[in-house]
Amino acid sequence: MAACIFCKIIKGEIPSMKLFESEKTLAFLDIGPLSFGHALVIPKYHGAKLTDIPDDQLSEVLHVTKKIATAVGAENYNILQNNGRAAHQEVDHVHFHYIPKPNKEEGLGISWPTQ
Ligand code: IMP
Repeated sequence: MAACIFCKIIKGEIPSMKLFESEKTLAFLDIGPLSFGHALVIPKYHGAKLTDIPDDQLSEVLHVTKKIATAVGAENYNILQNNGRAAHQEVDHVHFHYIPKPNKEEGLGISWPTQ
C-alpha cells in the first residue's frame, strides 16, 4: 500500500534498523522504543489488523518473533499486538512488538548492535 510507512520500510524507501528479513517477513528496531531492544516484526503482506492477514503470513511472523526473542535472549519480555485506534494501534500494518523488560538489578544482560 503506497501510503503505508511499514510498506515503505519493506521497499527500502524509509530507512530502518533491520534485524531479520525473509521472503514474507521483516523485523526491525522500533523508532520510539519503550525499552532498549524494542523491535517490530511485520508481514510483508499489507493488512491493517490481525484478521486481515493470511494464515501463512501470520505463522511466519510469529515464528520470526520467537526467533528475535531467542536471539536477544532477554529473560523478561512482552509481545504486544494492537488492533484499531481504541486499542492504541497507530500504524495500520499488522505488527508484533517485541519489548524486552530489563531486570532491575542486572539490566537486560544483552548487547545490541549500534549504528
Ligand atoms: P502501534 O501503536 O502498535 O501501532 O505501534 C506502532 C509502532 O511503530 C510505534 O511503537 C512506533 O514507535 C513505531 N514506528 C512508527 N514509525 C516507525 C518507523 O518509521 N520505524 C520504526 N518504527 C516506527
